[in-house]
Amino acid sequence: MLERERIDALEIAPARAGSPRQGRFRGSVDLAASVWEGATPPARAATVRTLAEPSAVAADFVQPGHVFLAERASRGLLERRDTFEAAGELCERAGCGPAVVYDVTDLETRARLEGAAAVSLTLEDVVLERLAGAALIAREAAAQLPTDLGDLVATGYRSRLDAGQHLALVPGGPRPAGAQAMLYVHRACAPGDVFGSRACDCGRRLTAMRERIAASGAGALVYLDGGDAWRHLDPDALRDADLTCEQAAVAAQIAADQGFASVVSAPASSRLQAALAARGIHVVNGPLAVHEEVA
Ligand SMILES: [Zn+2]
Repeated sequence: MLERERIDALEIAPARAGSPRQGRFRGSVDLAASVWEGATPPARAATVRTLAEPSAVAADFVQPGHVFLAERASRGLLERRDTFEAAGELCERAGCGPAVVYDVTDLETRARLEGAAAVSLTLEDVVLERLAGAALIAREAAAQLPTDLGDLVATGYRSRLDAGQHLALVPGGPRPAGAQAMLYVHRACAPGDVFGSRACDCGRRLTAMRERIAASGAGALVYLDGGDAWRHLDPDALRDADLTCEQAAVAAQIAADQGFASVVSAPASSRLQAALAARGIHVVNGPLAVHEEVA
């Protein structure tokens, strides 16, 4: 995988029309000076090494060959979530550039490499790490908000990922000494939150956690606009899956922006905990099962 400009500079043709590799993929190349047959693992490795050389030129390669090239997305993992972009991200972080990824497909080579692999990362590990290093939100509004549970400070955020509008609510006034801050992340559900639907437990959970945070005088309620506030009208999908990586990362950045260094996290989502940790926020083992408390 290489930057589009680099692939253009090497004059590598687009994938054949009608090929399943059309789109982000380009044609295939071999090293012109290769002393091996281009299909062998050493030959492909030599081709990849040369592709990574900043001094390589178009004449160093012949087309078609046995190494297929993909274009890197301009915004990397923030634009396209797949193993290509994740590998490109890792190359960049390691200070290697341009990024070249050799996707090992033949089973014999793969078996040999697996024995040598020292680090194993999932795509999600890399995505969360990437999101933790990005500015995902912008503050757009802030106000003192008198409510039936006391005065709150409300902060409105706009997501840079999808233009979603998120809200953070924290108790006004000084935080009581020793109070453990609870971070509660709630996904907007119009039927439950606004209209009192009993089909899902969103409204009851929201009320219970608002009361709990207000009573403790510490913590934050993060209200996430996921663009799917009607999802619980589907009677077959009343239970939400875990937060997405993006939702977890946005909530974690909001918590960081609100100045939290340590929180009890709710829901007890491993993805949210990983996102908080990636933002440098210590996660205290939670009390919780919010569902159990509210049921
Ligand atoms: Zn709901």
